[in-house]
Amino acid sequence: MGLDLRADPIALTAALVDIPSESRHEQRIADEIEDALRAQAPWFEVIRNGDAVLARTHLGRASRVMLAGHIDTVPAADNLPSHIENGELWGCGTSDMKSGDAVFLHLAATIAEPSHDITLVMYDCEEIESSANGLGRIERELPDWLQADVAILGEPSGGFIEAGCQGTIRVVIGATGTRAHSARSWLGDNAIHKLGAVLDRLTAYQPRSVDIDGCVYREGLSAVRIDGGIAGNVIPDAAAVTVNFRFAPDRSVEQAVTHVHEVFDGLDVDIELTDAAAGALPGLARPAAAALVAAAGGQVRAKYGWTDVSRFAALGIPAVNYGPGDPNLAHKVDERVELAQISAVTDMLRRYLT
Ligand SMILES: [Zn+2]
Repeated sequence: MGLDLRADPIALTAALVDIPSESRHEQRIADEIEDALRAQAPWFEVIRNGDAVLARTHLGRASRVMLAGHIDTVPAADNLPSHIENGELWGCGTSDMKSGDAVFLHLAATIAEPSHDITLVMYDCEEIESSANGLGRIERELPDWLQADVAILGEPSGGFIEAGCQGTIRVVIGATGTRAHSARSWLGDNAIHKLGAVLDRLTAYQPRSVDIDGCVYREGLSAVRIDGGIAGNVIPDAAAVTVNFRFAPDRSVEQAVTHVHEVFDGLDVDIELTDAAAGALPGLARPAAAALVAAAGGQVRAKYGWTDVSRFAALGIPAVNYGPGDPNLAHKVDERVELAQISAVTDMLRRYLT
């Protein structure tokens, strides 16, 4: 007997966890999900793309909700098969993110008349290099499958709706000077000393907290690396500090770069941009997203760090993370998920989708 999508999502989570599916080895779990959807959720059009399974309804509803989850895990750490202990399900993938997958699959198979059209995307290779990411492949090969009014990624978020994400840039701030013997230091010009003014500005910097659609984004401007020095008796002629700016998504990358230049304005340094990734606005004011926030009782918070939510934001689709499990337990040997959270997320999404 294959997967029973109509079983309690806790049992379904355990069944999914017990199919090992380290990245690039998702064929069996994809086969089982595909077979189960075809047999148990006949109101869905189901297709296969590599080891991703896609399914969608065609009910003519006014809005479309995408439920997306990766079906791969990091390599197991001697923590399979799953077991239940103290009200939690333990094992590789329990929180990241087979409990989220189980909730989505269960709802797909038990809501024949949803209030929104539903697109289900169960994809492969999220836990490895982004060039292998199944969602990226679907975006290239099947772009019409990724159209929706709101996308919900079932990544562990502790039952909060996590929206948007911060942007990030990295700059190398370099100072130059003149080498000399340190015994005759007045003949040189010390590049390391010039970085003192850079560090003073960083220490004095007051980062913003920005509220967008009820999500508060805390910015940060931080030195993350410092380089300099030639020998114990040489005045150095070059030194550099690498600075990382994590910025709220109301700034573009260009605006963030301009801001960093303003912070260090007037100093005798060069600023070189080495790395940049745009943030993503939460987009929660849009109707399909606002209804989701309302169904969750307004439990929203900003997402820190980069996730596949950003891929949807780049497509112009408001996207959130919402799933059972503590994100801090993902990828750990003692990965686990509270059974009560699986039930709570299922109940909330059922309210939203019916
Ligand atoms: Zn994940």
